[in-house]
Amino acid sequence: MRTRFAPSPTGPLHLGHAFAAMVAHDMARAAGGAFLLRIEDIDRQRSKPAWEAQALDDLGWLGLTWDEPPLRQSGRLDAYRAALATLWARGVLYPCTCQRRDILDAASAPQEGGGPLIGPDGVVYPGTCRHRPRTGPLPGGVALRLDMRMALQGIVTVEYHETGTQPGPRSVPAETLVREIGDVVLARRDFGTSYHLAVTVDDAAQGITHVTRGADLTEATPIHVLLQRLLGLPTPVYHHHRLIRDGTGRRLAKREDAKAIRRFRDEGAAPRDIRRMVGL
Ligand code: GLU
Ligand code: ZN
Repeated sequence: MRTRFAPSPTGPLHLGHAFAAMVAHDMARAAGGAFLLRIEDIDRQRSKPAWEAQALDDLGWLGLTWDEPPLRQSGRLDAYRAALATLWARGVLYPCTCQRRDILDAASAPQEGGGPLIGPDGVVYPGTCRHRPRTGPLPGGVALRLDMRMALQGIVTVEYHETGTQPGPRSVPAETLVREIGDVVLARRDFGTSYHLAVTVDDAAQGITHVTRGADLTEATPIHVLLQRLLGLPTPVYHHHRLIRDGTGRRLAKREDAKAIRRFRDEGAAPRDIRRMVGL
């Protein structure tokens, strides 16, 4: 068994991160497996080396150990580009130059039934740029979207196994991906990749057998499983864990002011206090 914790170094670790890290760590240790780290720093504007250093320090203080040097996504752009080239050659990507505003306007155009559909990445893309040519070399410096309907040709369901809060086999119909997820961005103009592509390529590169992460990412998982099929990568088991909430029920991940592990440390808390606070 190989698990991982994949923080984005855009702020301090809080109880939600500590919980995610401990779930992944404990699962690997209980099985005699390996626990790995990945620094998800593709957003160069928001990622700061100081946050990364603090995160590693907090994880060590919590008593967690990792078995390989952390993988840093900012050093993996060639691997993402290679995956994009594979998908481009299959004709399932197209360039998109829409602004957020264009997408909202097109998706909100009068039609039967309410407002725009919201997927894991926000408004489901209305397909404005789908007609653009897909020939020639892989374009750079432009956003690339997955043509979901094309990508799912010959696929009836996307399947994986879940061991988290609602364990069991999952079978997501292709039609659901087309309707509720749509043409997601696999390369952002500014980063040359996207969360979905990077996480899929890197989980495979790190040989992750069990992906543990918050239940807020459950609806993104079929995208990753589909990408694994398209890229010939293995599908890990998925374990979506409960989310840590504050006293008023708000998810810590949604709060800018969530109390940092650093502050608990400064106030004299011990690692076992942190474990107790998150119910471990
Ligand atoms: N970097 C992501 C986050 O901090 C985690 C992604 C994942 O575990 O798949 O939310
Ligand atoms: Zn577009």
